[in-house]
Amino acid sequence: MAPTRRERSDTDLKIAELLRTAKESLGLSLAFLSRLDEEVQYLEVVESAFPLFHDGQTQARATSLCQAILDGKLPSVIPNVAKLPEAKRLPAARFPRIRSYVSVPVSLSDGSLYGTFCAAGFTADKELNKRDRALMEVLASAAATIIEPGVRERQREADIRSELQPLIDAGGPDVVLQPIVALASGVREGVEALSRFPRDWGKAPDVVFAEAASIGVGTQLELLALRRAASLLPHISGYMAINVSPLTLLDERCHVALAELPTERIVLELSEHDPVEDYDLLRETLAPLRHEGIRLAIDDVGAGFSSLRHILMTSPDVIKLDRSIVAGVADDHVLRTLVHSLVDFGHGAGATVVAEGVETRDDALELREVGVDFAQGWYFARPGTPEQLADRYEIDEVPNPSA
Ligand code: C2E
Ligand code: CA
Ligand code: CA
Repeated sequence: MAPTRRERSDTDLKIAELLRTAKESLGLSLAFLSRLDEEVQYLEVVESAFPLFHDGQTQARATSLCQAILDGKLPSVIPNVAKLPEAKRLPAARFPRIRSYVSVPVSLSDGSLYGTFCAAGFTADKELNKRDRALMEVLASAAATIIEPGVRERQREADIRSELQPLIDAGGPDVVLQPIVALASGVREGVEALSRFPRDWGKAPDVVFAEAASIGVGTQLELLALRRAASLLPHISGYMAINVSPLTLLDERCHVALAELPTERIVLELSEHDPVEDYDLLRETLAPLRHEGIRLAIDDVGAGFSSLRHILMTSPDVIKLDRSIVAGVADDHVLRTLVHSLVDFGHGAGATVVAEGVETRDDALELREVGVDFAQGWYFARPGTPEQLADRYEIDEVPNPSA
């Protein structure tokens, strides 16, 4: 048995309470919850009067009493191990010399076997009976309810990790570029770099980045995307807008990566969706980068309520109006008024204004009319390779009769 001691989590403490109930009600010396994998039985939480037994011990699954019970070779309730040859020949009967034993399976809500809920004694106990088994079954299902959320969460994390790790090892996502066009002249001033993950994942990039962040590799993934994006800089003209989360911005490695780039060609896009807990810290972090010429954009403005605060607290160089207030602006008075006032507000704060999600000619013309400086969207181009970029994009003045 390999002792690996660890702190008990809240879940462990709740399980320990159930185990104490089992141990005391059955009058046995030891109770434990075990998890079973293919080969090993992990005694995850152990309640015992003897320090010899503790959380985290392991033993071979194949020769455990629990396995023999699961296989139906032994009954769930064993008042005297010495009386059953099948039990007596197992290692536990010699050391630690188990003499009485009760074991019931712990199953999760999908029917899968998690492990076992057990109690054991070092003397035979002919009083052990069916009623004890019934109590153990109740306690085992209570234990299953307690551990299930953690099991599901670990499974989710493992699934995400096994999907992401090969991509991280291979250097990160592919990156495509979408032009950002001056509405007055049609000239492409810059591009936004957008990550692309394998199509068969069926997940939008923001979903993948959020999943990565949830298992602690968000910054690593963002930095790989940033490096992939930066590798395209020599192949294009104009500036490149790159998406970063506040957490990544605070990471030293981000600053190292950015320092290697032509800073005057870089715009960092910070989403209004990302909560900023400490604006002073964010400003301090951004100051040296902005001093080097890197520009700051607040992305997705208008999508929620935090953007105005983001803008006031960071005085960005660029504000990017969210697609939700841009699409359909030509046919909607309320949107038009909202965009107009955001343009005034942005210009008043010394920022240029980019509208994103521009899909139609009418919206493009309307945006130009209300003073939006730049536009990005499918009307001009879908995100693509550097070769697919043009230097100039026209807005048709005459409506296309077939459109
Ligand atoms: P975002 O920064 O708001 O990016 C704009 C999204 O709008 C992109 O979605 C783009 O493909 C899409 N889009 C552009 N023009 C149009 C249009 O005319 N109509 C419509 N319906 N959509 C348009 P995408 O590429 O799926 O990216 C989704 C989000 O994922 C991005 O939203 C951004 O938050 C995040 N993301 C993408 N790449 C990266 C990255 O490298 N790093 C980080 N941190 N986030 C990224
Ligand atoms: Ca963006
Ligand atoms: Ca956006």
